[in-house]
Amino acid sequence: MAARIPLDRIRNIGISAHIDSGKTTLTERILFYTGRIHKIHEVRGKDGVGAKMDSMDLEREKGITIQSAATYCLWPGSANQFPQHNVNIIDTPGHVDFTIEVERALRVLDGAILVLDSGKGVQSQSITVDKQMKRYSVPRIAYVNKMDNPGANYERVAEMLKEKLGHHPVCLQVPIGAESDFRGIIDAITGKAHFFDGNDGEKIRVEDPPAEFAEATKAQREKIVAQVADVDDVLAEKFINEEPISDDELRAAIRRATLALKMTPVMCGSAVRNKGVQLLLDAVIHYLPNPTEVVNEAHDQEKGEEKIVIESDSTKPFVGLAFKLQQDKYGQLTYFRVYSGSVSSGDTIYNTSNEMRKVRVPRMFRMHSDDREEIPTAEAGDIVAFYGVEASSGETFTDGKVNVTLTSMHVPAAVISLAVAPKDRSAETNFSKALNRFTKEDPTFRVHQDEESQQTIISGMGELHLDIYIERMKREYNCDVIAGKPQVAYRESITRRAEINYTHKKQTGGSGQYAKVLGYIEPLPADAVENYEFVDDITGGAIPREYIPSCDKGFRDGIKKGTLIGFPVVGVRAAVTDGAAHAVDSSEMAFKTAALMGFREAYEKAGPTILEPIMRVEIDVPTEFQGAVVGQVNQRRGVILETIPGDTVTVRAEVPLNTMFGYATDLRSATQGKGQYTMEFSRYAIVPKQEQDEMAKKYREKLAAEAKK
Ligand code: GDP
Repeated sequence: MAARIPLDRIRNIGISAHIDSGKTTLTERILFYTGRIHKIHEVRGKDGVGAKMDSMDLEREKGITIQSAATYCLWPGSANQFPQHNVNIIDTPGHVDFTIEVERALRVLDGAILVLDSGKGVQSQSITVDKQMKRYSVPRIAYVNKMDNPGANYERVAEMLKEKLGHHPVCLQVPIGAESDFRGIIDAITGKAHFFDGNDGEKIRVEDPPAEFAEATKAQREKIVAQVADVDDVLAEKFINEEPISDDELRAAIRRATLALKMTPVMCGSAVRNKGVQLLLDAVIHYLPNPTEVVNEAHDQEKGEEKIVIESDSTKPFVGLAFKLQQDKYGQLTYFRVYSGSVSSGDTIYNTSNEMRKVRVPRMFRMHSDDREEIPTAEAGDIVAFYGVEASSGETFTDGKVNVTLTSMHVPAAVISLAVAPKDRSAETNFSKALNRFTKEDPTFRVHQDEESQQTIISGMGELHLDIYIERMKREYNCDVIAGKPQVAYRESITRRAEINYTHKKQTGGSGQYAKVLGYIEPLPADAVENYEFVDDITGGAIPREYIPSCDKGFRDGIKKGTLIGFPVVGVRAAVTDGAAHAVDSSEMAFKTAALMGFREAYEKAGPTILEPIMRVEIDVPTEFQGAVVGQVNQRRGVILETIPGDTVTVRAEVPLNTMFGYATDLRSATQGKGQYTMEFSRYAIVPKQEQDEMAKKYREKLAAEAKK
């Protein structure tokens, strides 16, 4: 076996983009230049093979990437300028309904490439993805793709990174020509021009820039120095003292500033024309962190969840995170990121997220989309896949000597739900098997039984998200499904503070029940992360300590179902401030009931209101249809945020999800099938008063009808 690649030569990176920016094409090129594949297949290619990374049939058909696949590549740099580096790439999906895939990838990756369309720049999903990257402090490089397209504008896209995402973008290159005349790229740091010859751009010709670009190249280097000096003290000192700055010094400064999230290197190219991809890979080595440069926090379960740092060190005890589950043709695959220590096939590891349950690691593989390579051992920094290891995504495993769990992954709220049932009763076993499997794979896919109707309800991030699972039940589990109408996941909340003062008292024969709870509920600040907060303000033992958790439980029961329309209540702080107990008649049950009833009473007085998911919608249409599209958005209670002219016009709007059902069809008929749109969750907002009244009325009627039954 080849010698192990040291940690400082590993890069774990993700590639994120708005749909259609060229992420799949770019990934395909990366696999080609790093020798993982020997032929380039275009996305939805005529050769019927399809790009390597879209490995699921369904993805091929829908032309989108649904599941992320981890791929192991080796990169010695263009012109073999580095010792061999290992770049692990997680392909993250473009479709917003699968944001959890992006979230998961970001959790386990150390750096990322943000792919942008040279004409469209920062699009709605770029904003979402960037927000996610910020949350996980992932340093990123921006790659401006499609420089060969009409309207390509490298500098303008960099400008948008500043305006829309608040980055400090620094353009490291100078494109040689643009649009159909895009010929090559100048590295403004070295001042050298790069041309990409050969059938697939694999032969890089390095020359002095064409004479007409000499001036611009020099100016760009000066600009880079000034912009980086703004955010890096070491460089700033040299800059102020007007000392010469070597290429290596400049790159080192860019690296420091990028890792500190103080700047974003901006690169450019054309994936489809095979231009610039190798330089982007070089930049990944130059400017994105190796595993030892990232701080990974975990919670020590032995010390009350105390935060500790997990060192990227293969001699320390093994700590790994199961971040993705996938069924492939060989069986059940679990992807792991090894954070610390090492693990070998045959080892026993312990699931610290699930009561230290132990599992043996039978076999271990390095994955390459559909193909795999068996390896005996994985070490800190590696991303590998195990067969036959039972886990849910997001669980931590260790060698059993340490009991830590890695910080949990952010799971966005579901916005849509629908009732499902197997068409044929004989398929019921497969039906439950499938649902069980999917919830393990995907935390944004949820299943519950509706207490009243006894129906099975699935919920998720959008219509497509749920459609895909229904389709997968049919294909993978041979279970045809009857699906109900999609329902919006509404929420209820409160608008003002209200006091709680409730006494629960019951005397039935022998011992009675007694609990008195005083307190209040009030709205949480709009930017609160949690949906619910419990405040214990009891001093002097008005309520004995052992009953305080029961009050919390009672409130939690209260927020499960609001009284306006029966949806969960969010954004509430509930406090106990006073109360009373009885030596014999008080119990946990009594306090829980008092808190629940008190909550319900206070809720009525706290200005309860209904919230609905508002979606960020981005519609792309030929200019002549702009009027029609804007009209459709207005009709749907939407608000136009901006319209961006170009060879097609892009309309950005915020629209309530409730009005978006059937939009695909309406858009198609209004634009002769030439319109496209993407939609993703933006935030919850208050439903207009009149509609709220109607919804509440319907809910009361439904309850009354059920009571009569
Ligand atoms: P993804 O949705 O981000 O994965 O994007 P794809 O890789 O599927 O590309 C979307 C479309 O853009 C495809 O038709 C590609 O052929 C095309 N495309 C990708 N890269 C480029 C490029 O550099 N220039 C041009 N003109 N088209 C590109």
